[in-house]
Amino acid sequence: MHRMPDPGVRRATLRLGARERYWLQWGVVALICAMLAVVLKPMLDHLIQVREFQSCQTNVYKISKAVAMYCQEWDDSLPQAANWSDVALGFMDSTSGTGFKVEKYMKCPLDHSPSVSSYLFNSAVQGLSLTVRSANAQQEASRRRLGHVAQTPMVIERHGSAANASAPMWDWSEVHARMTLPHSLPEATGSYIQAGGRPWRRTGEDLALLRDKRF
Ligand SMILES: [Zn+2]
Repeated sequence: MHRMPDPGVRRATLRLGARERYWLQWGVVALICAMLAVVLKPMLDHLIQVREFQSCQTNVYKISKAVAMYCQEWDDSLPQAANWSDVALGFMDSTSGTGFKVEKYMKCPLDHSPSVSSYLFNSAVQGLSLTVRSANAQQEASRRRLGHVAQTPMVIERHGSAANASAPMWDWSEVHARMTLPHSLPEATGSYIQAGGRPWRRTGEDLALLRDKRF
């Protein structure tokens, strides 16, 4: 094995022994690493938060698409509260490849509970049509009570929900009481879907401001 010949170049050095130089080098490296960690940790934490929120928003986007497909087939009417998530999963299944687990779209990555769903349906909008007036008196009464059906939260983020979980919510205070806001962006934020089909989000501050307001 060849060794490089000693270039014999004299370099100006601190008057430190090999041992001291070794420890000084490692000290500098350790200090730089510690400083980088302090600077980068909050950025990394934020990136992880953003990524988790994006997958939660992907979930509500997929659910809203599935509900839209249901509406197209059923006279523009929203699903019934009793089986809404079964219906949504059925439509997701029909558009995914075989063997793909669409159930994952029902779970927010921050929901560590053993329950199957992180989302709750607003039974106040069940069966309502966005465009066609119904002959059903009860449905027309719901529509009048809600004001704007299209802007009414149809599915809200609520961790630890059962399959087909639902609750009647007629104004923002009832949404505020039930919605989970697990995403720190840095404001506490949760996902929801408007009955008109738009996937959206609200912060705790938004909900406090909207309290007692109609949809
Ligand atoms: Zn979420």
